[in-house]
Amino acid sequence: ADAATIPALVIGTGYGGCVAALRLAQAGVDVHMVEMGMAWDTPGSDGKVFANTTTPDQRSFWLRTRTKQPLSNFLGFPIDKNIPKYTGILDAEEFSGITVYQGRGVGGGSLVNGGMAVTPRRETFGDVLPGVNADEMYNTYYPRANAELGVGMIDPAWFDSTACYQYARVGRKHAQRSNFPFVFVPTVYDWNYMKQEAAGTVPKSALAGEILYGNNYGKKSLQKTYIPKIRATGRVTISPLHRVSTVRPTTGGYTVTIEQLNTTGDVVATKQVTAAKVFFAAGSVGTSKLLVKLKATGALPNLNGEVGKGWGDNGNVMCGRANHMWDPTGPLQSSIPTLGIDNWAAGGAFAEVAPLPTGIETYASFYLSITKTPHRAAFSWNAAANRVDLSWQTAWKQTSITAAKTIFDKINSKEGTIYRTDLFGIYKIWGDHLTYHPLGGAVLNRATDSYGRLHGYPGLYVVDGALIPGTTVVNPFVTITALAERNIEKIIATDL
Ligand code: FAD
Repeated sequence: ADAATIPALVIGTGYGGCVAALRLAQAGVDVHMVEMGMAWDTPGSDGKVFANTTTPDQRSFWLRTRTKQPLSNFLGFPIDKNIPKYTGILDAEEFSGITVYQGRGVGGGSLVNGGMAVTPRRETFGDVLPGVNADEMYNTYYPRANAELGVGMIDPAWFDSTACYQYARVGRKHAQRSNFPFVFVPTVYDWNYMKQEAAGTVPKSALAGEILYGNNYGKKSLQKTYIPKIRATGRVTISPLHRVSTVRPTTGGYTVTIEQLNTTGDVVATKQVTAAKVFFAAGSVGTSKLLVKLKATGALPNLNGEVGKGWGDNGNVMCGRANHMWDPTGPLQSSIPTLGIDNWAAGGAFAEVAPLPTGIETYASFYLSITKTPHRAAFSWNAAANRVDLSWQTAWKQTSITAAKTIFDKINSKEGTIYRTDLFGIYKIWGDHLTYHPLGGAVLNRATDSYGRLHGYPGLYVVDGALIPGTTVVNPFVTITALAERNIEKIIATDL
């Protein structure tokens, strides 16, 4: 390789990308990270880096002129509004059968997610990553991921007393009365900070309803965990507002074409670098789209036929229940969920008791369920439209609705309550149009070997959620992080 060849280029700065960059840099490798989203390190005109969930603005959405909020309606009224087109933080990416929500910016999905940091129960690990040694994962890599991410558990005594989790206590009571097992869910929120928010001694974040468009305080996104460690190595450069468009083989590595974007999404410059090794960490959708396009358009024709396949939605489905007047869920709701109903073994659903942080009493209980579903979609190159399509069908969500109904039909019948019909449209009970948890598209042991090395191209790796075949049984980012820690350790030991 000549002097201009960089040793390692990482596409994307989410969980997989940050793990790869940190461990490579610690092993003495210089790394260049390329991120299509913004840096999210500069306050806007309101003095805050991130917009509030209740008042979305240009910072909130990736290159849209109108918001596309996951809950599109409230009390029957549509709540979306026009915003200026901008490289905002949350991408509501529309495919024909599903809208896939993703984070955009340095930190990827960690910027926008709910911070629920769940390790799947060991008995279910065979459903998640068949073929990966569970002992290694549960003895070494899950603990490593949990420690690096700063995962912690709510103080149960505080949970029982604080106003901001009344909604979750109502959810727990109803689960218990119908004999469903409920669990506290670990998170990456700083619990001491949230207690101070409740006491009124610090600026509010979780208790101001911040979540979907970023948390200004309190949440330990990758900006507070892996990324400072990455910067401290002195070996990593990060280029925000740069999008990888092509990767093709050249002598000594791969030529990577990178488009620089302005904040309205126009390409303002096109650059090329040569890298000895390239790590795809653009997320399940981003990595799959790149690989499918590069295979179909002749840049990487030797990628195998598994590329683009095995994509799933983690069985996501949402619903709300209307409580009686004597079961108020509280006007103040922490935006960080911390309670789950674990009915995976009996009914194929793990439901998180989610907030509806509107600032007013809604008498609603709201749930995001993760369910068992057999459906897997494939990405394909659409040459006529010059884009990548996804073969998901909305009707496939029926399996997920059926699984979630095993919980909520029973609770409704026990409590004498009904479903809300005003949150996703008019008279629509199920939020079946979206996922927050895209997984797969470059599945481990199929598109890649058992450590993420892409078949057909030595020096190309997948290190993100694209490796996972469609479900993690619970929320995914701890598993994505742990798998990346496992794979990069092997790659550093054997490929450098
Ligand atoms: P990502 O984190 O998606 O990172 C990929 C990065 O690559 C992005 O920053 C993207 O902008 C960048 N990129 C893409 N294409 C390119 C390109 N061509 N060039 C350059 N850069 C590119 N998970 C949980 O475990 N718990 C939760 O509570 C939770 N809540 C969620 C709530 C929401 C609203 C959303 C959207 C997600 C949530 N998730 C949650 C899911 C979790 O955030 C994702 O599973 C996780 O971020 C995926 O990690 P990743 O490393 O695979 O990719």
